[in-house]
Amino acid sequence: MSDRYRCADCNLEFVPKYVGNGPRCPSCTRTEAMEPADGSALQSDIWRQWLLVFALLFIAGVAYLVFG
Ligand SMILES: [Zn+2]
Repeated sequence: MSDRYRCADCNLEFVPKYVGNGPRCPSCTRTEAMEPADGSALQSDIWRQWLLVFALLFIAGVAYLVFG
């Protein structure tokens, strides 16, 4: 889960054998372009979209109560 990384250089997802000074890409052996690949960024995007939908529904409900 949290021990997966993605290399921003060659876009390879991998689980590092050991994390010494940081995960190392097995393909291009870079260490400076690693980012966690646990999908947390995608999840927060989905949550933000749902939050927007609920906010719009809430505003519509308030507008209905006030003007309806
Ligand atoms: Zn790489």
